[in-house]
Amino acid sequence: MATNAFQPIQGMSDIAPPDIYIWRMIEERAREVFARYRFDEIRTPALEKNELFTHSLGDTTDVVTKEMYTLEDRGGRKLSLRPEGTAGAIRYVASGGEETAGARVFYMGPMFRCERPQAGRKRQFHQIGVEAVGAPNPLADAEVIALQVHLLAAWGLKGAKVRLNTIGMPEDRTAVLEGLREAIRPRLSELPEEAQQRFETNVLRLLDSKDEAVQKVIADIPPVIEFMSAESRAYLNTVIETLKKLEIDVTVDARLVRGLDYYVHTVWEVVHGGLGAQNALAGGGRYRIHLDKRAVDGVGFAIGVERVIAALEAGGITAAQFAPIPPVFIVSLGDAALSENLMLLQMLRQRGVACEMELSARKVQAQMRRADKTGAQTVIIRGDTELEKGTFVVKNMADGSQREVELPELIKLL
Ligand code: AMP
Repeated sequence: MATNAFQPIQGMSDIAPPDIYIWRMIEERAREVFARYRFDEIRTPALEKNELFTHSLGDTTDVVTKEMYTLEDRGGRKLSLRPEGTAGAIRYVASGGEETAGARVFYMGPMFRCERPQAGRKRQFHQIGVEAVGAPNPLADAEVIALQVHLLAAWGLKGAKVRLNTIGMPEDRTAVLEGLREAIRPRLSELPEEAQQRFETNVLRLLDSKDEAVQKVIADIPPVIEFMSAESRAYLNTVIETLKKLEIDVTVDARLVRGLDYYVHTVWEVVHGGLGAQNALAGGGRYRIHLDKRAVDGVGFAIGVERVIAALEAGGITAAQFAPIPPVFIVSLGDAALSENLMLLQMLRQRGVACEMELSARKVQAQMRRADKTGAQTVIIRGDTELEKGTFVVKNMADGSQREVELPELIKLL
């Protein structure tokens, strides 16, 4: 076999220092923002029953038909790695019985899609998302969009744009699909074969096709909102008006649709110019998800963490800026000092100082080299002479200056 068993799977990556520092910043700030909006964290399993996804996301969608990692366990059960977070979150929320309305949850974690790996497209990627459960209410949609925009700002991200549209109520669906088909039908022969199949199975998805021939046809048809009821139009207008009052910039994009079947009313996408072809940072929308015999209404979004990081980096923000402060490094001269310094190390750590020392009696130069490598700004040096006097030599690594201090002063210094 040519593939190396000790490499991660294609499209899946280790996340390690220094990259991990920007991940932690993103997660920490997200938790702060979610707390202000009163969303609570949930952690659902990465592996779920296959039907959860086929049933809630829709069985003609790309995610379900082409991209899920599905396996059979030893008991012959069909399971899938979650391709997104909403289905599991709603399964969890609905398991609470009747008290689902009003639930506000957020999640962070890996999602899995077996797509062709390319720039911006991974097979394991990470999403941070929220779900606000409750009956359709344009103010709730606006609140969730406001939260998302707040979050992007908290990360220091500039230049993200929200594109917004409505796909109407379930009651509009027949009129929308028929209206679209009628508008497209006279030019059906201009579409490539796959698009012609889409025309039958999932005509809405033709709207956001990247295919040029499809785009040419789509450019000439009326916006979907024209096929919708007055109620659906009014709903979108209230979302737009509310966002205006909240001073949140959005662009209405009549051709925007989202890939999953469960959306109703408001759908949106956040794009960023620094991302290249895969320019979507996040998706969101209002949905009605059918689980067993109940339907759960809610509104939510999912942000792709890898893409947020790429967009931050395009704007000059790097992981190294969030590296932890380097430790104080302790250097020992001789065996007696080594064992005394171990106690000093422990004492400093218990007082909240990040510190590190060389545990084997290596040459001073080797210890200093290691101190330098950790990025230490301060090095404490102690040998037999200092032990006898009860002092510590404190070296400032930036300017090379040294001074000798006693314990109370050392503690004050650190
Ligand atoms: P979706 O659930 O497809 O609407 O995706 C929401 C967000 O997750 C997207 O806007 C991307 O930022 C991110 N995302 C989706 N698929 C991938 C992928 N294969 N690799 C990296 N990020 C992804």
